[in-house]
Amino acid sequence: MKTANKPRTSGSGTKRNGAAANGKKMPDVNGPAGDGKRPSLYANVIKQFDKAADMMRLDGNIRKILASTMNEIIVNFPVKMDDGRIEIFRGYRVQHNDVLGPFKGGLRYHPAVNIDEVRALATWMTWKSAIAEIPYGGAKGGIQIDPSRQKYSINELERITRRFTFALGNNIGPEYDIPAPDVNTNPQIMAWIMDTYLQMMPPHERQRCIHVVTGKPIKSGGSLGRDKATGQGVVYLIERWAEEQGFDLDGSTYIVQGFGNVGSWAARLMKPHGAKMVAVEDVAGALYNPEGIDPDDLIAYAKEHSDIFGYPDAKPIDHMAFMGTKADIFIPAALESQITALTAPMLKVRLVAEGANGPTDPDGDRILLERGIHLIPDILCNSGGVIVSYFEWLQNKRSEFWDLDEVDAKLKKKIVSAYERVQGVAHHYKTDWRNAAYIVALTRLENVYKERGIFP
Ligand code: NAD
Repeated sequence: MKTANKPRTSGSGTKRNGAAANGKKMPDVNGPAGDGKRPSLYANVIKQFDKAADMMRLDGNIRKILASTMNEIIVNFPVKMDDGRIEIFRGYRVQHNDVLGPFKGGLRYHPAVNIDEVRALATWMTWKSAIAEIPYGGAKGGIQIDPSRQKYSINELERITRRFTFALGNNIGPEYDIPAPDVNTNPQIMAWIMDTYLQMMPPHERQRCIHVVTGKPIKSGGSLGRDKATGQGVVYLIERWAEEQGFDLDGSTYIVQGFGNVGSWAARLMKPHGAKMVAVEDVAGALYNPEGIDPDDLIAYAKEHSDIFGYPDAKPIDHMAFMGTKADIFIPAALESQITALTAPMLKVRLVAEGANGPTDPDGDRILLERGIHLIPDILCNSGGVIVSYFEWLQNKRSEFWDLDEVDAKLKKKIVSAYERVQGVAHHYKTDWRNAAYIVALTRLENVYKERGIFP
C-alpha cells in the first residue's frame, strides 16, 4: 500500500511532492491529455502502431479494428467519507480488444488518470498478451485519485475500491475482463475487488469466480511469484541481452526510475548478478552513490519512511542529474513519457529495459535509435506481470497451487521465447525492437481475425 509523502525537513535536499529535489517543478509527465501541456499518450500508441502496420502491410480492415478501442466505461460514483461527507469519484475501464481471449489489464489509482491514458494502456495490453502468446485481450482502468494516506484513510480507500467495483458491475468478470494491480494498487486492493465482486454473485457461483482479479494475496488465491513477476521478467530479459552481447553483469551498473513494485523487485533481482544500482528515483526525489545503493536496504528504508527520500547512504540529486547518470543499464519503472526529446540525449547508458508502460515517447525512441542505445520495449520487457497473472488465473480455474520454482521456470520460458520472436522479426524486417514487437503482436491478431472473420 502506498502511504503519504510526509513533508520532511531533515536530511539534505528538499523532498519532492511534484517539485524536484532542487526545488524545480517536475515535468508534468501525466497531466490530462488535450490540456495543451503534453501530447496525447494514445496518439503515441497510434504512431507506433502505424509504423508497424505500414511495414508489415497489415490488412486495411483489421487495421481499422485494432486502431480503436472496443468499450470505454466511465463511472462516477459516490463514497461516504469517514467524516460523513460524500465524495464523487471518477473511474475508468477501457477494453481495447478481446479477439485472443478475455480483456486483461491493471487498475491504476493516480490523480492524473484520464481516458486518453487508459486507452493507451489498454491498447498496449492487447499487444503485450499477443507477444507473450497468452490467451488474453487488452484492458486497463483506474480511478482519478491521490490514494495517499494524507488524503484518504485505509477504510475510505476500501470503500472507494468496493464502490468502484460495484459501479463496474458486469463489465468485469473472470472469463470476461480481469483486473490486476498497477500504479498505486496492490494485492490488498485486489482482495477487496474480488470480495465485492463475489458478493454480487449468486452464492453457488462464488467459489468459481475468484479469478475475477489476479495479483491477489496468496491466501486469497494469489500465485507465488506474482508480486515480483514484472521485475523478474525485466531481469530475465536483461540476463538474456547480456549473454548475447557478451556483457558481464557482474560489476555492471544500472539506474532505476520508480522504486515501487516493478523497480524495487528489478533492483533486488539484479543484486545476485553483482550489478550495482548507482542511482534511483521515486516520486520524492533521486539518489546517487557511485559505490552502489543496496536495494534491500533501500526497500527497508522506503517501507519505514514511505519513500526513498532522506536515505542516508546516497546523496540527493535532481531529476536531470538522475537522467544523465552514467551507467550500463537504465530501468524506467515509474510513469510514462520520461524518455523524450529533452531527456533522451542526456542518457549515458547502453541499454534501456522498459519496466514501465510507455516510458519512451516517439521522439525519445528516435533519439535512442540514432544514439545506438539498445532498447527492450515495454510490451515485451514488462510482460512478466501479465504472464504470471495468467498462471494465477489458470491455478484458480484448476484449483491448483504451483510452487515458486515452477512459476519462475514457466515465466522464464515464456518471456524468453517472446524475446526470441521479437528478435527474429527485428532481424527479418531489419527494424528496431519496438517496431518488431508491434509486428509480432499485429501478425498474431491479424491471423486470428482472418481465421474468425468479422460478424455478421
Ligand atoms: P508502484 O505504484 O508500485 O510504483 C510506482 C513508483 O514510481 C513509485 O516508487 C513512485 O514513487 C514512482 N514515481 C511516481 N511518479 C514518479 C515520478 N514523477 N518520477 C519518479 N518516480 C515516480 O507501480 P508499479 O506497479 O511498480 O508500476 C510502475 C510501472 O510499471 C507503471 O508504468 C506500470 O504501468 C508498469 N507495470 C506494472 C506492472 C505490475 O505488475 N505492477 C506490470 C507491467 C507494467
